[in-house]
Parts: sequence; C-alpha cells; structure tokens
Amino acid sequence: MVGETMKSSINAALFGTLHKVFGFREFRPNQESIVRAILDKKDVFAVMPTGGGKSLCYQLPAVLLPGTCMVISPLISLMKDQVDGARANGIRAAFLNSSLLPEERDSVMHDLLSNSLDLLYVAPERFTLDYFREMLCRVQISMAVIDEAHCISEWGHDFRPDYQNLSDLVTLFPDVPVAAFTATATHMVQHDILDKLALRNPLIIRASFDRPNLFYDVRFKENTDVQLVSLLKQNTGKSGIIYRTSRKSVDDTSAMLSAKGFRALPYHAGLSDGNRKRNQEAFIRDEADVIVATIAFGMGIDKSNIRFVIHADLPKSIENYYQETGRAGRDGEAAHCTLFFAQGDISKLRFFIDAMLDETERKRALDALSKVISFASTSVCRRRTLLDYFGEHYQHENCSSCDICLGTREVVDCTRDAQMLLSAIVRTEERFGAMHIVDIVLGSNNQKIRDFGHDRLKTFGVGKGRNKKYWRQLIDELLAQKVIEKSEGFYPTLFLLPKAVQILKDEVSIDIVRVVEKKKENKLYHTLESQKAPCDQELFELLRVLCKQIAQEQGIPPYLVFSDRSLHEMATIFPRTAEAMLSVSGIGEVKLRRYGRYFLRIINRYCSTYPERTP
Ligand code: ADP
Ligand code: ZN
Repeated sequence: MVGETMKSSINAALFGTLHKVFGFREFRPNQESIVRAILDKKDVFAVMPTGGGKSLCYQLPAVLLPGTCMVISPLISLMKDQVDGARANGIRAAFLNSSLLPEERDSVMHDLLSNSLDLLYVAPERFTLDYFREMLCRVQISMAVIDEAHCISEWGHDFRPDYQNLSDLVTLFPDVPVAAFTATATHMVQHDILDKLALRNPLIIRASFDRPNLFYDVRFKENTDVQLVSLLKQNTGKSGIIYRTSRKSVDDTSAMLSAKGFRALPYHAGLSDGNRKRNQEAFIRDEADVIVATIAFGMGIDKSNIRFVIHADLPKSIENYYQETGRAGRDGEAAHCTLFFAQGDISKLRFFIDAMLDETERKRALDALSKVISFASTSVCRRRTLLDYFGEHYQHENCSSCDICLGTREVVDCTRDAQMLLSAIVRTEERFGAMHIVDIVLGSNNQKIRDFGHDRLKTFGVGKGRNKKYWRQLIDELLAQKVIEKSEGFYPTLFLLPKAVQILKDEVSIDIVRVVEKKKENKLYHTLESQKAPCDQELFELLRVLCKQIAQEQGIPPYLVFSDRSLHEMATIFPRTAEAMLSVSGIGEVKLRRYGRYFLRIINRYCSTYPERTP
C-alpha cells in the first residue's frame, strides 16, 4: 500500500513537473526511463540523436532532487544557451567557465554554496583545480551529468583531452548518480566511454537515430545559384544553413544571396573571430535568415528553429551529412534537408583525396566518399540508407518523407544505352576519356575522331538520338555504380570493372534514377508541413515578430522565448485564456507568467479582427 502511494506520488511529481516547468504533456522516447533511473540513483549512459531531448532528462530530476545538479559541458557557447533556456523555464541555473568576470564567478559560487542552484554547468578543466574539487565536497550535489560524453573517447571524432579529468568522477561522487549523454557514439566509442567513466551498473539507452521530422531530398545540381535562389524563395523568412566546401564558395554564395535581397551571412575559418561571432549571433537571434558556411559551422549551435539545411556541395561522409542535416528541426517541427549532387563534384573531392599522403587516411576518405555517392545516387529510401549506416534497420517500407519514397523519381532501365558506351570503351581499348567516348557514341565529326579512325567503329553514331548531356550523365552514373572506373592522372581514361562485362553479356541490367517532373519538387517541398494541422500563417508571423521583440529585450535568442512548435500550436488552436495557453506544448507556468499576456493580447486582437478565421 505504502509502495503504491509512493509510486503515485512520484508519478504526480514527474508529470506535474513535466507540465508545469517545461510545458510538455508527454515524454519523448526514453526520457521517462532515464528520469526514473536517475531518481532511483542509478547511473545512466544514453546515446540519443540531436533534438531527442537530452536536456530534459537531467533538468527534470535537477528540479525534483534536493541539491545542485552539476553538468559538465565542453562548449562555452552551449552552456550559456542551456542556462538561458533553463532560466526561461524558471529553473535556477548558472554556469562556471573562463568567460565569467571575477565578480560574476563569485556570485555563482555564493549561490552554489547557499544551495540555491538547481543546475550548474561547468567546463571539464575545472576538475583539474584542487580548490574546485574541495569546494564540491562542501555543497550538496544531486547528480553529475556529462554532456557530449563522446569527447572522453579517443576513438570518437571529437576527443578532448580535458575530458580525461572526468575519469574519477564516480569516486568523487560515490553517492550520487552519474549520467552521461551523447548524440554520437559507435559501439566501440560507447564501450570506451563506459570503461573510462567506470559507471556503476548503468541504465544504457541507445535511441533510434531516425529523425522523423526531417525530410531528405537529393537534387541534380545544374546551376547552383539559380537552384539556391529558388529554394530560398520557398522558404522566405525561415531559418536555414547552406553548407559549401570552400571558403571562396561560401563568400560567393553569401554575396550572391545578399545581392538578391536575402538576409544571408557567411561563416568560415578564414573570417576574423569577431566577424564569425557576429554572424553566428545574428543567425541565432533570427536577425539573419540564412548562414552560408563551411563545415566549421555548427558545433555548439543549439538553435532549435532551423527549418532547412542545404548541402550545395557533396558532404565528406555520411556521418558528416547526418550531423550537418541533424542541426535542422531540433524542436521537432518539420524541416528539410536538400543535397545538390553533381558528378562533377566527385572529381573535385577526388582531387583532394588523391593528394593525401597517408595511405590509410586516403583509403578511409575514399571509402567515405563512395558511401556518400551511393547515398545520393541510388534509388533506395534516403532514411533507410542513413540508418543503415549507423547499423539500424529501418522498419517501414516507405518513410513518406524523402524524395525516393514520395516517388517523384522514376527508375529507368538504361542497359541498352550503357552497352553502347561500354562497347565504345572496349573498342578503343580503354585508352580514352569520357569526352571522347561520348563523341564516338554521338557520331561527332571532329579531328581527334578522324585521326584515330574512330568514325569507322561499329559504335560510331549509335547514340545520335540523345544529346551530349544525357551521355555525360550516363557515364557519371556508370562511374557511381562502379561499372566503370577512371584512371588516375592528368588525362584520366575510362576502363571497365567486372560489372561492365556482365552488362555487355546481358547478364545484368542497369537502372538509373531520374527526376520525373521538375515542378513536382516544389510540391514535394511542402509535404511535411501539409501533414500537420493547418496553422494560420498570418497569426504565426505576428507571434514570431512578438517573440523576436521579447527576445531582443531580454538578450536571449527568440527560440528560447518560445519554440516554433509553441508558436505553431498557438496559431492553430488560438488559445484565448491563460488556461488554454497552458495546453500549448512548451509553455509552463513560468513562461505563461512572463510572456503569456503579450501573446494572449495579440491572439485576442487577431480573433476580433478576423472572427471568421477563429477555429
Ligand atoms: P538534444 O540536446 O537531445 O539535442 P534538446 O534537449 O535540445 O535536445 O531538446 C530538443 C527540443 O525538444 C527542445 O526544443 C526541447 O524543448 C524539446 N523537447 C524536449 N523534450 C520534449 C518533450 N517531452 N515534448 C516536447 N518537446 C520536447
Ligand atoms: Zn524514404
């Protein structure tokens, strides 16, 4: 009986806090079991994707447990963001790192020692300081959290020596639970983390890497500028990242977009620290809509309302692609990931890879590139391919949110045409490059053809019915599908791989994926949005402007005032009382008290102006 009462009072506290403090009605997958484990004083190790809601897993127990929850986090920018976010929900939070002035640091210490902090974010290097460790013995610590826990592993992609200081955390806090979180950890890295931290019989969670609110789309890259402008026009006023490979292309694209009136800013390692920081800040605060960046951009960005990520160039690996696209849609609202793909990009990347001196590095880079190429050029669901990469099997036949599953591409059998190209390669003894092979098939009457007597070949002119672009693309496709290969060197020639022989013998056929109809892509772009409840766009915009004003006054990013999800819900259900406002996702008691009346005023005014639009 006592057990039952205990259980129901824990449940009440759990769901009560979830709603009152965070404004959420339900837990996201795995959150509840993690929170319960921590409340049971159990250690936790969790791998959850970006946007999975890791913060809540420790912030909620931090509110419930007596004492201070200490969070070790590697990035100063993230700490500030997390603290601002927690404070906006009324949680007593602070951080300690090198960016603080001495008096600010003293004030945080004072709060900590007087037990008036729920959450304290600290940088890992603090743990080398004896005075800090001694001080920890004098305060009540409720739990210790290691954020970005993969940083402790040398096997991971982001090893940080400072994290080595955390290996005796468990000894330092023998009586409190230790929870480690990360968004990326292969099984090997996971093993290493568990080993280094010596967690005590921890609850281990490996969440699915699927990001259901992300739409994946690969487009044939023809004229990047025109294509980018057209995509941005469909996303006016929305927040997005455009990734490019080189600093120069970042500068060029950003200048091109600015000249066309888009609020775009560049970001790359060649800019001064000040410039980079300013541009990042403007993006985070929604003062710029688009950031055009090299992969230097993204670490330490918690901005939850990024609605699109465009790769204007080929990413280096599937892992990079997943991380970079993963920055979209943290708030759980629909977001689009578009990759522009041209076979020409492959040779550019190949050029850099070929120049690598370290043989193992070179092999690894090549392997990573070939996986990206196959992701972009096959007709398999993009989501399935991504998840496959992480060793996860996607259960559904059709994900309904990628270009392949929506069927705007069609698979075309091009075995006959491939045979023409392959036979031209064979008949010229694999000694010529792509251009010349195309000229043969097209029946071009040029000097080189005549010099070699290639106008007498059987395949000369067999492909007249198609244009040059078609044949070039088909060669690219055969390269991508590993039917043929290009030799290295200054004048690369084409040669056959085993699959080519099978095609020539009619033993296997070859398919290519083709975009069926261009116009459909625009329709496709809005599929995810249209699956949701309809929202009043005009009201949404008004609320967004208000959100930005409030954020500006408070010196925090707009998404920390209200997420896009909260605004979207308001513009769908039109809450007109404080009580109705509390039913909106992301609005807890503190946010309601602080901001509710301003939003209610706008909604009520909107309803009286447009009574016909009120649901
Ligand atoms: P992560 O750190 O795992 O990338 P965050 O903790 O930043 O993810 O959470 C991502 C977003 O999801 C935030 O906007 C957060 O408010 C929201 N969120 C977290 N938990 C829930 C929940 N139970 N219901 C709805 N939204 C949630
Ligand atoms: Zn799919």
